[in-house]
Amino acid sequence: MKVLKPKRPISAGIILSYRCTGECKHCMYACSPRWENLWMDRDLFRFAVEKLASFSSQLYRGVGDRILGVNYGFHLTGGEPFINFPLLVSYVELASKIGLPSIFVETNCFWCISDEIVRNRLMMLKESGLHGILVSVNPFMLEHVDFGNVKRCVKIALDVFGYRNTMVYHPYFYRQAEEIGVQGKLSFEEYLRVASAKNYTITEILNPSIILPMGRLCYKLSRFYGKRGFKSYLGERCLDELTRPWHIHIDCYGNYIPGYCGGISLGDVRRIDEILEEGVNLSDKPVLEALSGGIHELYKLSVEGYGYKPIDEGYISKCHLCLDIRRYLALEVGGFKELQPVELYKYI
Ligand code: SF4
Ligand code: SF4
Repeated sequence: MKVLKPKRPISAGIILSYRCTGECKHCMYACSPRWENLWMDRDLFRFAVEKLASFSSQLYRGVGDRILGVNYGFHLTGGEPFINFPLLVSYVELASKIGLPSIFVETNCFWCISDEIVRNRLMMLKESGLHGILVSVNPFMLEHVDFGNVKRCVKIALDVFGYRNTMVYHPYFYRQAEEIGVQGKLSFEEYLRVASAKNYTITEILNPSIILPMGRLCYKLSRFYGKRGFKSYLGERCLDELTRPWHIHIDCYGNYIPGYCGGISLGDVRRIDEILEEGVNLSDKPVLEALSGGIHELYKLSVEGYGYKPIDEGYISKCHLCLDIRRYLALEVGGFKELQPVELYKYI
């Protein structure tokens, strides 16, 4: 029996819901207001947190209430977790009681409409056991969130959680938005116009060290990227990404998602002990089996087995090719248990 052996997670994001207040053009998890209003069930949350806490207790000893970075610790995320604030508070309380170290929440700040609201909510979360916050800022969320909200959140979070436990992702874009004088919300076309007038190049606006060429970006922003035919990606492999121990995700349906690979499930997290000890059984997961052999195997399976036709204009990255094949398999063929949640492929 062929198996894939993921490493025991040392940091993770818990996707409480895929529902978001906006639909960023670069979202890796295809979040959107169009998703069903489904939130992680409390028993599943408790189970996931107990497991993650037990895996990480040694590693975070002595630094449990400090946020060390985006790829360390455990973040509650979405979608947008503040859409369901009562649930967020109660889950933070539960995670804190269980002893999960380095807990932070990620937000797009849609809710930060007054100083009073921000301070009250952040204080409430801190008192419930939250250690810190990650504030998102980039040109795409500014299409649907006022930059003033972001600034307000950062200012008050610094006061509530301190410098060490307040992260902005990414400070590069925060500075860029300030420098080009963003006020309120603005469309990406407008952002491009204003930033170009301040001599920012497209590469500086889509900073490739921060904005990864995967997820919805492959469809919504591909015009800004160079493309290559499928053949140039066939030598690529993904074993590291599929098995890495850092920044894995667990979603509201219970999917164990490797790294940033939205739409791929290694299995139900309720069976995480089996997944980690015995490995993921690939015999009933042909797409994952092919991917674990490399992009060439995924390509071969999709073309020879299921009639996938490559895009004439080419792909911006290996993840674009991978996602396009998976989207075809999930939506046009169907029945692959490793391609979950299927809605992600609809909303990409
Ligand atoms: S990137 Fe963040 S703010 Fe944007 S759609 Fe995705 S979850 Fe929502
Ligand atoms: S090519 Fe696919 S499996 Fe590999 S890192 Fe990208 S999304 Fe993940």
